[in-house]
Amino acid sequence: MEFVSWVSDEEIGKERYKAKELKKTSWWKNKKSSGICHYCGNKFPPEELTMDHLIPLNRGGRSIKANLVPACKECNNKKKYDLPQDFIP
Ligand SMILES: [Zn+2]
Repeated sequence: MEFVSWVSDEEIGKERYKAKELKKTSWWKNKKSSGICHYCGNKFPPEELTMDHLIPLNRGGRSIKANLVPACKECNNKKKYDLPQDFIP
């Protein structure tokens, strides 16, 4: 199936804002405190982990807990806009 981005910048902005709000919650702090990157499984200091959307926002992903995982910077850079099944760390 070919992917066409139909998500507006406005919608992406809203989801980014929601993600930012979720970063302040204890749910996210607990998730990050494990220090484990969702993709490579390596352990990092929690402050080095970033919030990553499993399904990227521009592919219709949402800022909901089920779609947010901690990722190290390297994996985050490598993944970019790939869907999880396209991404090999
Ligand atoms: Zn990683």
